[in-house]
Amino acid sequence: MTIDVARARQDTPGCERVLHFNNAGMALPPRPVLEAQIAHLRREAETGGYEAAAEAHEALEHTYDALARLLGCRRDEIALVENATRAWDLAFYALPFRPGDRILTARAAYASNFIAFLQVARRTGATVEVVPSDEHGQVSVEALRELLDERVRLVALTHVPTNGGLVNPAAEVGRVTRAAGIPFLLDACQSAGQLPLDVETIGCDMLSATGRKYLRGPRGTGFLYVRRAWLERLEPPMLDLHAATWVSRDRYEIRPDARRFETWEGNVAGKIALGVAVDYALHWGLEAIRDRVQRLAERLRHRLAELPGITVRDLGRTRCGLVTFTSSLMEADEIHRHLRARGINVSVTTPASTRLDAEARNLPPMVRASVHYYNTENEIERFCDVLAGLSGVT
Ligand SMILES: *Cc1c(COP(=O)(O)O)cnc(C)c1O
Repeated sequence: MTIDVARARQDTPGCERVLHFNNAGMALPPRPVLEAQIAHLRREAETGGYEAAAEAHEALEHTYDALARLLGCRRDEIALVENATRAWDLAFYALPFRPGDRILTARAAYASNFIAFLQVARRTGATVEVVPSDEHGQVSVEALRELLDERVRLVALTHVPTNGGLVNPAAEVGRVTRAAGIPFLLDACQSAGQLPLDVETIGCDMLSATGRKYLRGPRGTGFLYVRRAWLERLEPPMLDLHAATWVSRDRYEIRPDARRFETWEGNVAGKIALGVAVDYALHWGLEAIRDRVQRLAERLRHRLAELPGITVRDLGRTRCGLVTFTSSLMEADEIHRHLRARGINVSVTTPASTRLDAEARNLPPMVRASVHYYNTENEIERFCDVLAGLSGVT
């Protein structure tokens, strides 16, 4: 199946107004997502928030089914939370670490995750080690295998880094961790919605992602998958009356499903609209989305490489929709500003967001132009024309 781009753009109000290459920041939501959110907010105002939630019970529950379909898991393995960072934290901070325990990660590690590693290492005496990369810049599965021993308590991998098109070989890592019986936590924040994700194929035990990026859902939404076999072994770092029940004066029982990682209160409109966004992605198909996104991104890299002063910085044997580049003629911030003034959205990725990689490659701040399936070849041409014109601007 191929994507009907005209239809996808008609469904996307933002396409008329901006050239949006900031899909790795937040993608433009399609109309059904926007409308689901607004409709629920309206019902809350008209009939009361609790009453509106009761009315929307099925729509809200549907979000768990939609995510289960997206990930190839069960609905009771999904928790809905406020963003990918908290989803990841809830799983990570639930793992018990002792002095000498080893946490293995890779160069693409996201800053928030690495900060959490450092905090937990300081508190518990565990160590954090970075698995070397291979000649493509992705995590070396061979090196990972060699580093394993009985003290490794966690392998935590970022599937697609925030600073480039690299796609780490998550399923190969999963084969190694599964054989060794070591829990595998996958940060799928940039891959959810742009690549097919199946937790059985990947072999991860926990997976976190956000709603607003490639899934095109609302801000302030995220989700955590925890494999059934791990659920009861992972005690959430914090509990409330939704995650647990106060069954007698001095006793509580934690619920058995993944909702033990949720809180009672949440963004109901956002959760409903997240389900709509997942349905919308599934309707196009994740293979079709991946293929188009990869094709557009390769074209963009190719056109960028022809421009004076521009260096494309993406690593990886398999690459995706995030395209990063620098210019010898202009700082990334300045490019960002000039593009914004012309209705073109990109973002700037700084060394502090992915320090391991930035230091290994001596990277300055880079422009990140991230494409989605609703972007077009024409937009790529326009983008490169504007960029070429900027070299004359000071
Ligand atoms: C954006 C991002 C996150 C954080 O997601 P939030 O929803 O902002 O918490 C985590 N990991 C990666 C790789 C990201 O790109």
